[in-house]
Amino acid sequence: MPSIVRFAPSPTGFIHVGNARTALFNWLFALRDGGRFLLRFDDTDAKRSRSDLAAAIAADLAWLGIAPAAIYRQSDRLALYAAAAGRLEAAGRLYACYETAEELEARRQSQRRRGLPPVYDRAGLRLTAARRADLEAEGRRPHWRFLLGSPEAAHASGEIAWDDLFRGRQAIDLGSLSDPVLVREDGTFPYTMPSVADDIDMGTTHVIRGEDHVTNTAVQIELFRALGAAEPAFGHHNLLVNAEGEGLSKRMGSQSVASYREAGFEPMAVASLAVLIGTSEAVEPAPDLETLARRFTPSKVSRAPARFDDAELAAVNARLLQVLPWEAVAPRLAALGVGGGEAFWNAVRKNCTVLADARLWWDVVSATVAPVTEMPREDAAFVAGAADALPPEPWDGATWSNWIASLKEASGRSGRRLFMPLRLALTGRDHGPELAALLPFIGRSSTLARLAGYRPR
Ligand code: GLU
Repeated sequence: MPSIVRFAPSPTGFIHVGNARTALFNWLFALRDGGRFLLRFDDTDAKRSRSDLAAAIAADLAWLGIAPAAIYRQSDRLALYAAAAGRLEAAGRLYACYETAEELEARRQSQRRRGLPPVYDRAGLRLTAARRADLEAEGRRPHWRFLLGSPEAAHASGEIAWDDLFRGRQAIDLGSLSDPVLVREDGTFPYTMPSVADDIDMGTTHVIRGEDHVTNTAVQIELFRALGAAEPAFGHHNLLVNAEGEGLSKRMGSQSVASYREAGFEPMAVASLAVLIGTSEAVEPAPDLETLARRFTPSKVSRAPARFDDAELAAVNARLLQVLPWEAVAPRLAALGVGGGEAFWNAVRKNCTVLADARLWWDVVSATVAPVTEMPREDAAFVAGAADALPPEPWDGATWSNWIASLKEASGRSGRRLFMPLRLALTGRDHGPELAALLPFIGRSSTLARLAGYRPR
């Protein structure tokens, strides 16, 4: 049976590369067996969710090459969650509680003082109808908790275990968990139950998400069962940290997918690094997601946090530019105003971190280059005199070496002393693509003009 997976961000910020990694893991997982990838916006938090952010997330996924088979919004599906809550209540698994947040906190503190785990004591379960009526008369409204474990037991006990796609066998002691709130006082639903109701409705076969959800999984497995459904398989991957070892945050906008797109990185460089770091696979850029899918194995993802370093991304991007086919780059270079065809691209691609750097080199050959001011007098004289030995056009890839050979003989210079003053004069910088390749693009008259800038005045 082909898999059905989903990526379920809450649209409260731009997705960062850690979120993108979750989306990619799901997408690659589904690619392997022709499965379906669903995009679900977990937007039950009406105050923080924004439709413009949902649109931005969909655009980020599209940029990465992820095309959801369907898109859902939890805010459109509230009736499904209300029905699920009704079924849980009818089954004796949902009970009303009236404590305020302050009362609950005071209770937790007293439990801690007595050396007890700060687990909800199920006081709500013991309320009589009369007591509930009193509380409601006081103006309190109930929130609703899900009874974990058997309804007969005073406390949840036992273990919930599953074979995690990434982490292997996992077991959570139900006794360590409070009965979770499924419906808030104002009738809204926190994330826990809608996610399960949706996964049942959508036929999700594999839930792949970050390891911050491991504990939720025990609760959610209980919910699947209480709602009469078999639970899907679960996989929890390690989280990303930045180069400094700090966790990524959607709110801070750090390492957002949008920022990498705007900086000109290739989507496959971002995807390759996001998927392959912290695995036993070498971090080599994959040309497309199908290739990346063949290199992705959940059990090979390490347990330790994986470090997403922007410097490494730059290196991966540069390596990817080396292997992109000309047909793929040609229209993009044209849009950047870069001329010179494939020969120019071949001349400069090794010196590009992002594709747009080609424009910088195009300006170097096609615009005017101001003389560098700090050139030693002797070098300047050499540069100015080099004009005399400049071969006539037409020029080709051999022009540079012919010119240099005669300059070498005439000046007695060699190595760096020979070519660096020329590089500085011709390009305005001390590093860059092979001059042999650039020279034909600069052309004879422009070369002469650049050299003339060093004539003594
Ligand atoms: N909205 C949840 C999150 O962004 C989804 C978790 C899940 O995949 O179930 O963390």
